[in-house]
Amino acid sequence: MLKEIFMRSKKRNNTNANSGHHLRQEEKNTLRHSHFSGFFAKTNVVIWSYDFLTDRLTCSSGIERLTGYRQSDFETGKRVLTDLVLEEDRPGYEEKRYQLNKGENIHHQYRIVDASGAIKLVEEFISPKMDENQRLVRLDGFVVEVADSSDHGNPADLFPFHDPATGLGNRRMLETKIASYFQESPKKMFAIILIQFDKLKGISEYLGVKNEYKLLKILLGRLEGMNIPTDHLYRMDSSVFGLFLPKIRNEEEPKKIAKKMITNLETPVPLDDYEFLFPVKIGISFYPNDGSTGDELINRAEIALNHAGNYGDDRIKTYIPAMNIEARHVFQMEMELRKAIRQNELTLMFQPKVNARNHAIIGAEALIRWIHPDRGLIPADQFIHIAEKSELIDDIGDWVLGQTCKILADWTKRKLPAVPISINVSPKRFLKGDYPGLVRNVIRQMGINPELLEIEITETSLMENKEIVTDTIRQIRQFGIKFALDDFGTGFSSINYLKEFRTIDTLKIDKSFIARIDEDPQMSAIVKSFILLAKGLGMNVIAEGVETAGQLKFLTDNGCNIVQGFLYSKPLPRTDFEHLLREGEIRPNIGILANIMENDRRGYFRVNFPSRKEGWLTVKAVRGKSVNAGKATIYIKNIGGGGLCFVSDLNLPAGDQMILAFGFELKSDPFVLDGHIIWKKKLKKGFEYGVEFLIDENERAHLIKELNQVLVSQKNLLSDPFK
Ligand code: C2E
Ligand code: CA
Ligand code: CA
Repeated sequence: MLKEIFMRSKKRNNTNANSGHHLRQEEKNTLRHSHFSGFFAKTNVVIWSYDFLTDRLTCSSGIERLTGYRQSDFETGKRVLTDLVLEEDRPGYEEKRYQLNKGENIHHQYRIVDASGAIKLVEEFISPKMDENQRLVRLDGFVVEVADSSDHGNPADLFPFHDPATGLGNRRMLETKIASYFQESPKKMFAIILIQFDKLKGISEYLGVKNEYKLLKILLGRLEGMNIPTDHLYRMDSSVFGLFLPKIRNEEEPKKIAKKMITNLETPVPLDDYEFLFPVKIGISFYPNDGSTGDELINRAEIALNHAGNYGDDRIKTYIPAMNIEARHVFQMEMELRKAIRQNELTLMFQPKVNARNHAIIGAEALIRWIHPDRGLIPADQFIHIAEKSELIDDIGDWVLGQTCKILADWTKRKLPAVPISINVSPKRFLKGDYPGLVRNVIRQMGINPELLEIEITETSLMENKEIVTDTIRQIRQFGIKFALDDFGTGFSSINYLKEFRTIDTLKIDKSFIARIDEDPQMSAIVKSFILLAKGLGMNVIAEGVETAGQLKFLTDNGCNIVQGFLYSKPLPRTDFEHLLREGEIRPNIGILANIMENDRRGYFRVNFPSRKEGWLTVKAVRGKSVNAGKATIYIKNIGGGGLCFVSDLNLPAGDQMILAFGFELKSDPFVLDGHIIWKKKLKKGFEYGVEFLIDENERAHLIKELNQVLVSQKNLLSDPFK
């Protein structure tokens, strides 16, 4: 009977006032005044007393701080503490309480969910009072908060199966669910869908936990509105939710559901004066195709999720085995990158920005490089996107900020004619509320002139989370720091939209447009309109990636005088850039081909495949350890005796630590040849790679003979490799 009362004693209206077993009045007063007015009233300690015969609870006001609900709610029975007990702690909680029936004191710990959704661990001591007939008439209890999730060493230990904020099961719970499903319906197909809200991470630091919780509630409400049972929905980490989808008939079903989810989730969420848009990405894996354990299936859905893009159908990805190759690489890179930060393997290079009218160096962009102990200099685009997938990017970004300011301070101290340096800041960093404060502290500490610092952010980052980003820019600009809109033209901002961003000082036209102005009249018209647009909005304009004299002429003819690119200089190590600074000016390298691609060192001829030859690759070994990865399709541009050049969506590392096998057919003769990637180049979509074969001379002779035959039929001998 006691069990029932504590499980659900909301039915407390039928009080029996004549029972004579109330707390005596003086006892009540004692409870109310002497104990509670002192220490206890100020801490998260609750003293309570429950009278069975009147069904009445009296408690101290500490209950308000502990639970976030009103004391009177509990005293009138509108709320029952038992209802706040975390679902999975309930069985233990009730069992323990059952001992009270026998007149035993109890002492136990359990967790409650407070009004804000936070989970708190409490300790409770209860002493039962029995009457002459050994009937329970009163309970006196004492509850104290022992720890909350924020000060507990490892929150995962405290919450083994639940996410504290939402009460949803966590990753471990989903694994358990899958395991039990295997037992019940071992042969049935099911899917794991992971839903990522890209911008959710860090939002609490900007908006506060309460608002984050409100946003979550709205988003989850939308999912539940799709009739997804909550016991199928899990929270995997701060921004990823998991859905267990049993009893599916085919792979199309989950994809359809995923599409519907995106439509539902991507309508703006109003909160206070803001409207939030949470772009969604989805990764899907299937049982039995993609794995045989919960861990494996979740892992593969994560891999698929990491491959999801930002727009359209690209936002939904189902797992394919080739993805594993990349996942392994990303994992390894991430570990190495963490070490690189600790061991000071990162460095900055400086690429001058030049006024083409008078050759004056008017600034520079700081670009990060990784000096790897084995692999040498690794350019930014080979690791920044990996860092951006984790918190690493924040550490790197803050390092770049600190390092740039340190160098600027040093230049000022050494009386070098310092110029403004721009740094690239990842949009993710802006979502954490502490960025303006950090920037202010760093420039103050280093004592640098804030006008020497410029921040480049990409156009797309400006459009997502518009409010937060513009607000952050506004705050930082107040210190005197300027902003440039990087990669301009690659996003989708309209003129109207740009007008709102008076907070941006400079438009930086993306190098992909500049690369094509020589040959594509449409492109030159677009670049012209960008220049006019910037001027019309009162912004400065700069062109990046300027490589040829023709491009330079076009730009200056059309009023864009500030340029950056290989035509003037590649990014330079600090000391080289300091020499330039002293000179103060730089002339274009007209006549020198600014093409940095490597040549086929062995000088073999190459056969071009203008319409790309289909082939495949697989990873054979990483750092001498053999691996068994799936095959991925590649598109081959050319093949020579020394190597080949291919295009693929996969992002693979260049270097000799990874041995791959490449498969293709020449004149219906199949070839499978080992090789490693010696260079890579990022394309608008995917990557282009140069491969050096690791083959013996017999294999090479056979290959060359076949290639010769292809050449004869193609009649296109090409002397310039890789082109
Ligand atoms: P971005 O901000 O667009 O940087 C310009 C990139 O173009 C640099 O590549 C630069 O070396 C390259 N570049 C400069 N002139 C030319 C040229 O004439 N032709 C061609 N084809 N390329 C040119 P990098 O240094 O490899 O950086 C790639 C991207 O990585 C950067 O693109 C930026 O988005 C990111 N990145 C670089 N450093 C940092 C950093 O410190 N923090 C963050 N968050 N991102 C960084
Ligand atoms: Ca940049
Ligand atoms: Ca750029």
